[in-house]
Amino acid sequence: MDVLEQKPPSRIIAVMKCRACGLEDTCRMFGAREMLFGWRHPADYTECAHCGSLQIRRIPENLGDYYPPDYYSLQLPPLRSKKASWPRQIWARWLLSSLFAGGIVRWQRRKYPFFNWCRLAGIELDSKILDLGCGSGGLLRRMQRYGFSDLTGIDPYTPFEVNERGFQIRRAELADAGGGYDLMMLHHVLEHLPDPRRALEDARDRLGPRGKLLVRIPVSGSESCKIYGEHWFNLDPPRHLLVPSRNGMIALAERSGLRVVHTEFDGIETGFLMSELYRRDVPYTGRPADDPEKVRLFSQRAEAANARGEGDQGVFLLEKA
Ligand SMILES: [Zn+2]
Repeated sequence: MDVLEQKPPSRIIAVMKCRACGLEDTCRMFGAREMLFGWRHPADYTECAHCGSLQIRRIPENLGDYYPPDYYSLQLPPLRSKKASWPRQIWARWLLSSLFAGGIVRWQRRKYPFFNWCRLAGIELDSKILDLGCGSGGLLRRMQRYGFSDLTGIDPYTPFEVNERGFQIRRAELADAGGGYDLMMLHHVLEHLPDPRRALEDARDRLGPRGKLLVRIPVSGSESCKIYGEHWFNLDPPRHLLVPSRNGMIALAERSGLRVVHTEFDGIETGFLMSELYRRDVPYTGRPADDPEKVRLFSQRAEAANARGEGDQGVFLLEKA
């Protein structure tokens, strides 16, 4: 006997407390699937009726299983230690301080966006910098090569520990990170944490007097989020537990004793390219080679969305309230 496939209704209502804005209300719920590895395990998400943030309905008990060893091999291998030459340091100081933003400066700040982040945060080469959730430490190595001289990375799962003068990578949690930082960076980390408010409070307590916190995170309500819905690449079920909207991020910062002092967007073509594939049931690990023409078109589209404030990845600079 044929059995008709029961399709779930597209709009279900659930009651949830939003981990971004803190309000509890009924909200839209929708189903999504794990597609990075193509396991296709289902996960329900809700959309906050107040701030539009997306969050997973139930955090999987076996969340650790969704970070297999090859999750970390998706990252770049670490670079060797290399001291910055004097000309490089002079050039780096100029990139950090110059108000000129055209030509080669623009190109260099795009190639090495840390110059842009550090300039926004008023950071100098000898500032005390922490990368929280640093993976294999690739970003800090690139910064070291331009003369940044007080760099620490911590990550409970980092495959390598490094202990050099002015450069440390440690397998540790935030609680072991010390304090007094001029800049703390969370690059695509907060969305993976079960208690993002607590994480921001802990980070705030480790900032120096004029310290800044840089949070890079996927943003709901963005163009590709709206277009692709449950197939949106940056939803990444079930690893992303909270994907805040722009307003949700502002509310989350305020609830953590912080305020957002600058926002910009740095979504890239992958958000579109992969969402297109997810919609056709092609997982990240099974993606075909990129079509250069599509890459070009979606790059332009991502840049346009960023400029309008609708990019699907946000850069939020925070300070103590
Ligand atoms: Zn909310």
